[in-house]
This record gives sequence, structure tokens and C-alpha cells, in this order.
Amino acid sequence: MSRVSADYKSERFEMSKRNKSGRARAGVALLAAFVFTAGLSPAGAPRSAAQVAAPQMPPAAAVNPRSASVASATAEVLKETGEIRQLEVLRAVKSGAQSRAEIERMLVRNLDAQTTPAELHASELALKKLGLVPADFAMRSFLIELLTEQVAGYYDPKTQEFYLADWIDLDGQQPVIAHELTHALQDQHFNLRRFEDWPKGDSDAELAAHALVEGDATLVMTFYVMRDLKRVAAMMKSMNASGSASEKIERAPRVLRDSLLFPYKQGMEWTSQVYRRGGWPLVSEAYKSLPQSTEQILHAEKYFAREVPVKINLPDVAVLLGKGWARLDYDVNGEWSYFQILDEFLRTEKESQKAAEGWGGDRFALYEHRATRQVLLAQLTAWDTEQDAAEFFDAYVKRTERRYKNAVADTRASVPVATRRVWNTAADGLVVMERQGARVCILEGVPQKADMGALLKKVMATP
Ligand SMILES: [Zn+2]
Repeated sequence: MSRVSADYKSERFEMSKRNKSGRARAGVALLAAFVFTAGLSPAGAPRSAAQVAAPQMPPAAAVNPRSASVASATAEVLKETGEIRQLEVLRAVKSGAQSRAEIERMLVRNLDAQTTPAELHASELALKKLGLVPADFAMRSFLIELLTEQVAGYYDPKTQEFYLADWIDLDGQQPVIAHELTHALQDQHFNLRRFEDWPKGDSDAELAAHALVEGDATLVMTFYVMRDLKRVAAMMKSMNASGSASEKIERAPRVLRDSLLFPYKQGMEWTSQVYRRGGWPLVSEAYKSLPQSTEQILHAEKYFAREVPVKINLPDVAVLLGKGWARLDYDVNGEWSYFQILDEFLRTEKESQKAAEGWGGDRFALYEHRATRQVLLAQLTAWDTEQDAAEFFDAYVKRTERRYKNAVADTRASVPVATRRVWNTAADGLVVMERQGARVCILEGVPQKADMGALLKKVMATP
């Protein structure tokens, strides 16, 4: 699944109001801009003329009236943030306030700089194929609306500047300033720009790196707030003022909301564990020895043990599908995405967690037929043990039967159902699953006319 992940470019406080079962979920998370890290785009896919020509808006000539108060708060909060984080302030940080229109332009520019239309299209298709967003879901417009609504401020590693939204109450936003200035300190010491142009094709590792950056800043922010009860009160007041149920974030598909929150929520839990083990020096050390997978974030002990993900390559199977098929995406899902993919359809989070645990590595490829718009998703997953693979296999069977309610199981297969399953979904083609030892292959959307056996053989033969 192509994913969304959070970014320090734009964030705000957000009380995550309820989880799946409707219980209030305690805790504070910061929301951030989405950065799409879809896999490879088709070779030579042109960027639209509008994007290439997107003008860099010059800064507004008039200084925002709120800028002076933001700047004076910045110096003070930066000093304290440096003390908390035990990082020396190497340079002053330029800051100011920006209007909604200025921030909106930044968001759109940022989204377009990070993702081509082809990548956005691929992300949208993968999420639809997995049944995680509605069939008529329009990713780009949704994201822009959501981000515009949610933004509170941002730190830009390119200019090394920090901006706070000018419509936000300054007192309640000091924690946001502390969070953003942690990014400035990270940037001064560890260089955040290297995270900007992450190589395409391993979104799982990229999300893990974001979880370090955001988890670190969110933990510092928490320490900053806890130092003074007045700050706790101001923050609660500010959060209650915002955050009505009508907000776009509340209506966002769960996969997008949870992906957005991952670097903050799971990232902070992970950073807390690193901090408990070795204090800030060990957190700083993580910038040299990055977490490599969401598995390492979800299970910090696997980071400490450096349990390295298994690298998997997938052959391009477009030729086996017939004329008109093209590969649009090639990426890694990781444990976190498998949890989300399963949990959309399974009954309990515990069941989904258990099935996604034991992930060793994976790779998926997304294909689309240019004319018919049929979509095929090929996934090859590796598990720590055969038992882990069997658990995942069984869970994915359940998920598939709920995902495609009218699918008809093909029982003619001469292989035991414990290791191979085939369904005919009619409109969406065939879904095929096969387990061999500790590996599970899933082909979703195989055209009726394609040679299923040849496809499976080619994918499973991958070293
Ligand atoms: Zn941040």
C-alpha cells in the first residue's frame, strides 16, 4: 500500500478523539502534512505543465502583524527546548507568522514537490484495491482540504525557518513552538534535509525515519508542557477550542488518519523507550543508526537487536498479464501497513496485530490496464517463521472474504486450502493466495484470461 506519512512541514495539536471501538483515547498527537511516498512512477511519466511551472510565490511584502510576537516567543522557547533536549542551540531560528493563504500555498507546493500526479494516482488505486478508501475517493483534493484545515505551523529545513499560523492563539501554541523548534535543533545537529529526498521504493523505512523525527519532537514537547502546569491548562484550552467532530480529519478514512498519526503516536512511544534505555544521547544516536522498518518502531526491542528487514524484489509481470498493462508502483508495505490492511476487515485489533507480527519483509507491485482500468496488486511477503506465515495467511483469507463479499471460492485447486486459496470476484478478477514455507504471495485482481499458474510461479520464484 502506498502510504501517507507525516512530516514536520505542517503540524498542529490534535486530540485523537476516539478509536475504533469508540472509547476515548487519551494522549496528544500532532498532525502533520502528508508526504506521499508512492513507489516508482512509470518511467518518464511527465509532470504536468502546471507543476513544472508552479511559481514560487514571493514572500508577502507586508510583514505579518503577528510575526513580532512569534519571533520573541521563539527565542525563549528555543533556549528552553535546547535545555530539555540537551542539544546546543547552534544558530538562532528565523520565525514569523503566516496567513492561511500563505500556508495553503506552502502545502500545495510541498505536496506537488514530493509527489507526481502519477504517484498520487498509484497511491489512490492501491488504497482502493485494498478496500481502504471508497471507490470514488479523490486523494489530492482530499489531502489539500485536510491539510489546510489541520495546519498550525511548520519548520522548513530548506530555509531553516519556522512559521506559526496567524489565526492560532499564541499562548496555547507554545507547545507547538517547542515541537517545531525541536525540529530546528534536529536540523542543526542531524540534518533533516536528507529526509526530504528519500529514495522511492521503501516507504516502510521512510515512515520509520519519520517516526524518529516526530517521536523525538513530540516527546520534547511533552516534557516542555509538563514543566509547568499553566502550560498544561493553556494547551487543553487551545485543544478544546479546536477539534470539532465536523472536522475533515474526523471524517478521513481510517487508514489516512492513522497513517498520519503514526510518526507522532507510535513514534513517541518508540522514542520514549529509546529514551528510557539511554536518555537523549541514545535518541541522538538513532539519527546515525536509523530505525529501518515500522516493525522496529512497533517493537523497539527489534530496533535494539537490529532485526534487519528481508529485502524482497519482485519481477515485472506485466508481460504475463497481456497487452496494455503497466506497473505503477513498487514499494514495501511493512508491518504497520499489514496491520492496517487486515484491521480494516478483521474483528479485533488484537487479531490484526498478531497476524502482522513476525513480518520479515515484503514487496508489492501495482499494475493498471491503460484501457480497462483494471488493477492488479501483487504482494510477496516473508515471515520470521512458517507459523507466522500461516497466521498471516489465515488472517488475510478472512480479510479477503470480507473485502469481496460476493467472491466465489474456487475449490478446484488441487493444492490444500491451507496453502493456496483462489476466489473469483467477477468484476475485480481473481484473488489468489499461496503460502510456501515462510513466504506468502497474494495476487489481487488477476484478469480472468491470465495464466494464474504462470504468474504465481514467477512471483514465488523470486529469490
Ligand atoms: Zn513535527
